[in-house]
Amino acid sequence: MSNQKINQDMQEYKIREQLVVFAKSMFERGLSSGSSGNISVKLDDDFFIATPTNSSLGFLSSERLSKVDITGKTVSGDQASKEILMHLAYYQQRPDIGAVVHLHSPYLTAYSCLANLDPTNAMPALTPYFVMRIGQLPLVPYLRPGSPLIAEAVSKLAQDHQAILLANHGPLIVGKDLQDAIYNAEELEETAKLFFLLKNHEHMQLNAEQIQELKTVFPK
Ligand code: ZN
Repeated sequence: MSNQKINQDMQEYKIREQLVVFAKSMFERGLSSGSSGNISVKLDDDFFIATPTNSSLGFLSSERLSKVDITGKTVSGDQASKEILMHLAYYQQRPDIGAVVHLHSPYLTAYSCLANLDPTNAMPALTPYFVMRIGQLPLVPYLRPGSPLIAEAVSKLAQDHQAILLANHGPLIVGKDLQDAIYNAEELEETAKLFFLLKNHEHMQLNAEQIQELKTVFPK
């Protein structure tokens, strides 16, 4: 067995273990209930490890995770979620990302049901951490889960955004690796939570100048 193959196998083993741990943590904190939500991670050899269809993020088995190719075909493990296509649309546009997280987390899913959101910039900049991790959040109009039109919409928005919100459904968040994607997802969920906490209170949002300063000092 070549050294390259051994390194790839070790990388895949570590990613499988890490995915199970992070997914369980998301489940236990109520960020993904029942069998909702899915996570994928890119491997060095152009394959992806993903959570299987109808699996709970709280009870994954590292050996049964789906391994898929870029077309979404499951090459080993349990069948991948139908929602894997929107993950792959992101990877195709963004060679710099290493992981994609999709959740039906409560505050963001509630937020995604609000009327009159700005589809190009759906979330207010309440904190600098939101600006640094996510920046601008676009909204895709409602489409049924698994619809190929979601992947199409994601392809168009992927280039310039770290997260996309699907109306009446939930968010899709990316990162340079799994930990980064999870932290981005948590920051975005916290921002939606803050929005609802502040809803009936007069509050300040970051202005354009403050947002620009963050983008200059902390470029992505
Ligand atoms: Zn979903």
